Amino acid sequence: MLNIPSYIEDPSYRYQMPALQITGESRGNGVKTKLINLSDVSRALNVPVEYPLRFFAAELGASSEYKQSENKAILKGTFRREDLQKLLDQFIEKFILCFKCHLPEISYRFKRNILIADCKACGNVRPMDMSHKISNFILKHHPRTEEKPPSTADKKTSGKKKSSKKKKDIESDEKITLEHPDVLEALERISHHLEESPEKICEHINNICIANSFEPDFRVYITLKSIFGQNLVRLLQDPAKIFILKTQAESYPEELIMSLSVIYIPDESFHSRISRIMMSLYENDVLNEEFLTSWSDDQAVFNESSIIYNQNFLDTMKNCAKEFLAWLESAESEEEDEEEEVENNKEETKENNKLLAQKQIIQQQLEKQAEASKPIAEKTNEIAKENEIKPTVDLISRMQIHEEFSIDDI
Ligand SMILES: [Zn+2]
Repeated sequence: MLNIPSYIEDPSYRYQMPALQITGESRGNGVKTKLINLSDVSRALNVPVEYPLRFFAAELGASSEYKQSENKAILKGTFRREDLQKLLDQFIEKFILCFKCHLPEISYRFKRNILIADCKACGNVRPMDMSHKISNFILKHHPRTEEKPPSTADKKTSGKKKSSKKKKDIESDEKITLEHPDVLEALERISHHLEESPEKICEHINNICIANSFEPDFRVYITLKSIFGQNLVRLLQDPAKIFILKTQAESYPEELIMSLSVIYIPDESFHSRISRIMMSLYENDVLNEEFLTSWSDDQAVFNESSIIYNQNFLDTMKNCAKEFLAWLESAESEEEDEEEEVENNKEETKENNKLLAQKQIIQQQLEKQAEASKPIAEKTNEIAKENEIKPTVDLISRMQIHEEFSIDDI
C-alpha cells in the first residue's frame, strides 16, 4: 500500500491506496497499457475510475478507454508504471487533496457551472481549477449530491442519499435571502481575514462569491457589510478599505447604491451622513459622475428582482443624498460654463475659485447638518479622536465584535 499521495513517508499514515499495477497489451491495432487495479485505487481515492483515467489521458496526450462491464481501464500507448504513479500523485494534488490542509477529505459540490471543493477536515471551501480538461468532465458526470460518489465505505448511508439529493435540488431553486446561512457564513468567513492585505481580502471575497455563486449584488453587499459594517464613515478614510470597495464595486454602481440603502437606511442615524458618504465615494472614484448624474436624473436602472432592491430605501437614500447631488449638479454646470470660456484665463480661474467655494459651502452645510444631531455628533467626534491614535487592529476588532449597528461606534 502507498500513502495518498505516495510521496508521504509516514508508514502509519491514515490515508492509503494500493500501488498502481499495469500490464502492456499488444493486439492488432497497436499497443495498449492496461491499468489492472485502477478501480481499487479509485475506490481508495473515493472517485470514479474515469477521473484518474481521463486525467492520465489528458496529461499524456493519449486516448483512453473504459469498459465498466469488464472493469477495464486502458490507455493507448506504452507507459511506465513509475510515470503513471507520479501522474496519479498530480491528480491527487489537483482533485483529491484539500488546498489548505492537504488531506484527502474534500467532497465536490456544485454551484451552477462551478465545481466547489468542501473539506470535511478543516472546513475550507474553494472553487476548483476549471482550466483542466477533466474539470468539465467531473462537472458533467459527478453525482449531484453533496456526498462523494458511492464507494464501499458509503454503502451503509446509501439509503439516506435520495433524501439529501432531493433537499439539495430544492435548495438550488430557493431564492437566497440576506439571512440565508450562505450569506451569513460568507460574512463570518471574511471577518476572519480583516487583518490581511487588501489584495488578499479581495481574493477571499472573490473565492467566497465564486463558491456560493453570488451575483454582483451579493458581492457588493457582502463587501460593504463585512469590511465597513457600522463604521462606514470612518473607514471611508482608509485607503486600504477604499481599495477593496473599489475593486469589488467599481463596475456595479447600482448594486453599491442598493447595498448602501439596504444596509444603512434602516438605521436613521445614518441619514444625516449619506451626503458625506456619497462625497467620499465620489472623491475616491468608487462612484463616478456619470452614474451619479443618471441616478440624480432618475435614469439609473436598478434590478428589481435583486434581494437587495428596496424602492422605499432607495427613495429615502436619494432624499438623504440630495445635498450632495445638488452640489454635483452645480459643480457640473460650472464646469460646462468653464469650458465655454476656456480662452479667458482670468474667467477660468474665477470659475475654479467659485467651484472651490461651492465645495466648501457644501462641506459646511454637511457639518451643520451633523451639528443638528449634536449628541450623536459629539460622540462621533470623541470616538473618532480616540480612534485616531489607536492601531488599526483595534478598529478591526471593534468591527468584529459589533454585529448590530450602533451609533456609538461611528
Ligand atoms: Zn482541509
